[in-house]
Amino acid sequence: MTIRTRFAPSPTGYLHVGGARTALFSWLYARKHGGKFVLRVEDTDLERSTAESVNAILEGMTWLGLEYDEGPFYQTQRFDRYNAVIDQLLESGHAYRCDCPRERLEKLREDAMARKEKPRYDGCCRAKQVSPEEPHVVRFRNPLDGAVLVDDLVLGKMVFDNSELDDLIIRRSDGSPTYNLSVVVDDMDMRITHVIRGNDHVMNTPRQMNILRALGQEPPRYAHVPMILGDDGARLSKRHGAVSVMQYREKGILPEALLNYLVRLGWSHGDQEIFSLDEMIELFDIDQVNKAPSAFNTEKLLWLNQHYIKSADPKRIAHLLSPHIGDLGIDPAQGADLAEVAEAQKERAQTLVEMAQISAFVYKDFEAFDEVSAKKNLRPVAREPLEKLKAALEALEDWTPEALHQVVADVSEALELKMGKVAQPLRVAVVGRAASPGIDVTLYLAGKAATLRRIERALEYIAQREQG
Ligand code: GLU
Repeated sequence: MTIRTRFAPSPTGYLHVGGARTALFSWLYARKHGGKFVLRVEDTDLERSTAESVNAILEGMTWLGLEYDEGPFYQTQRFDRYNAVIDQLLESGHAYRCDCPRERLEKLREDAMARKEKPRYDGCCRAKQVSPEEPHVVRFRNPLDGAVLVDDLVLGKMVFDNSELDDLIIRRSDGSPTYNLSVVVDDMDMRITHVIRGNDHVMNTPRQMNILRALGQEPPRYAHVPMILGDDGARLSKRHGAVSVMQYREKGILPEALLNYLVRLGWSHGDQEIFSLDEMIELFDIDQVNKAPSAFNTEKLLWLNQHYIKSADPKRIAHLLSPHIGDLGIDPAQGADLAEVAEAQKERAQTLVEMAQISAFVYKDFEAFDEVSAKKNLRPVAREPLEKLKAALEALEDWTPEALHQVVADVSEALELKMGKVAQPLRVAVVGRAASPGIDVTLYLAGKAATLRRIERALEYIAQREQG
């Protein structure tokens, strides 16, 4: 049997982390078993579905690299098929027309509520022959007795009594098929073997299984994954910061870091934290997913991101960093090679946004010295070393890290100072603050003209301090 999984988002918003994790689990399961992963857009809620949202979801999937083998299929393009199946169910007696007026249904509901019972349709029209010409809905004729066993791959075995499930509407009075019906027809037509989805759908499962059986189909396996909570234990929402996958890109998170983070939300393999895609595919299994909800932990995501920034090819980091540098109003083509910058900064940034910020000095003069760094390092004692450095650097033709290192070493020696005493004021002069890559690389990346200009500026700053 070929394993076939699907991701079936409703395009009523962006791709959020919960959806992305469901998609990842479905994708991994298909990849692990050499199966197929299908993308299906559940856009039947015409009022809430938007084209922008479809695009946002597709964009998120592409960014994460969750490529699908089939689809995207759109439910709105399959109404004829759903209606044909509804007609088939009507013909076989597994569905019936219902013309109960709204008032009657309201009354049923109110009475049930008053008795503190779950509101359910009482099957009044089961035996009636409502004419297709009359306004009506179509209901599924749920079995009256017996039970549905859901052997969930995550939640375990659950039994639902049919007496608890009422006759679900499968076609509305306007002729449109309902959610549960469309899902069933799609899962059947797309030959889905494993339905992996959020556990907010657990209650739909026995109903969907009953409809499938009425259609002569053996239901697929189900796996309902628990929800994701914020750091504070509440259901993850906008309040917790970024929830859209694309917002993580904007924050400078690498897709592999987010995937690694997501796979660990509710799944583990010993105490291993870092998983390459290949390892995920090899080690992941849906039946090892935790039943309990998992809490989102931003610190951990940042830690993973830093790990991937450090281990990625600097050329690729440069490519991903470029737009973030652009966001700072900088054209990275005018200055040092961005891959060299990425290599130099990889130990120092948890996100690409941070990397862009700490690398801006390479391309443009900073606005003001960081006060603490300047107070500590640009003191009158730094004047002489800076003057000497300036003279030596002005004369230097070979602007390489090696030659630059030598200049700093020579000046330190001549002044009988430790290298740090010379390098640190120089660093603050060129970068604006006391943290940057090694001084040789820092100067190399900033370039000769900017270095000299900024030493001059630091000397002016010291002179002002001497006066004031
Ligand atoms: N469209 C549903 C949702 O976005 C998913 C339904 C399913 O996976 O069966 O919640």
